[in-house]
Amino acid sequence: MKELQMGVNDFIVRLIFPPKCIFCSELIDRRSEIEICEKCFSKIPFVTDQKVFIKKFMRGVEPDSMWLDNITCICEYKGIIKEAIIKYKYFGKYSYHRAFAFLMAKKLEVIKNSSEHDIIISVPLHKKREKVRGYNQSFLISSKLSKITGIPERSLVLERMRYTNTQSLLHRDERYLNVKDAFKVNNEKEVENKVVLLIDDVVTMGYTLNECSKALKKAGAAKVHALVIAAAVSNIEESS
Ligand SMILES: [Zn+2]
Repeated sequence: MKELQMGVNDFIVRLIFPPKCIFCSELIDRRSEIEICEKCFSKIPFVTDQKVFIKKFMRGVEPDSMWLDNITCICEYKGIIKEAIIKYKYFGKYSYHRAFAFLMAKKLEVIKNSSEHDIIISVPLHKKREKVRGYNQSFLISSKLSKITGIPERSLVLERMRYTNTQSLLHRDERYLNVKDAFKVNNEKEVENKVVLLIDDVVTMGYTLNECSKALKKAGAAKVHALVIAAAVSNIEESS
């Protein structure tokens, strides 16, 4: 893995546009690798026990229909992270992808065997939704993460075939049917025997990640490890 440091281009951009904290808009040091001030960083609800989280949000998936090999969540979907993700997804704050990618890169540094990932793929949006939003929030993060880590980005090989409703508006059973068989790999050679790092912003029930993983595995991927910014565990408890 490359060192977590910004390139010359990033530094020049920062000379012209001084970086601000994505949470509180305070100006921060130009040399800071992450656009989050120290005060806000200390308020991020980082997940400390991954195992508890995985158990909670994957409990709706039967063990024999589990296609994911592993999942790592960086934060809980609450507080300042929840506010930032909502602004990022729905209020055009696409520049936040840099801070999210750095949070992921830092997490990868501490995950064992993270250097074993061959390619990075983000959860695809349907073209129609991407057109409305103007960008795919997970793709921006995975592209930046690829630049930071040097792991090749291959998101375009995974496609969302059906236009699906927003998962957060649906009940548990509807969520599963909503994304079932919704994804397809369009170039199997790109994923054959590869260890895939699958990127998404928020995980709720894990169905979307699991269905993406299913498509990747059926196309020959050796392993799929999901990495997400935030896990909405409280949503699961509310909807279960
Ligand atoms: Zn701040």
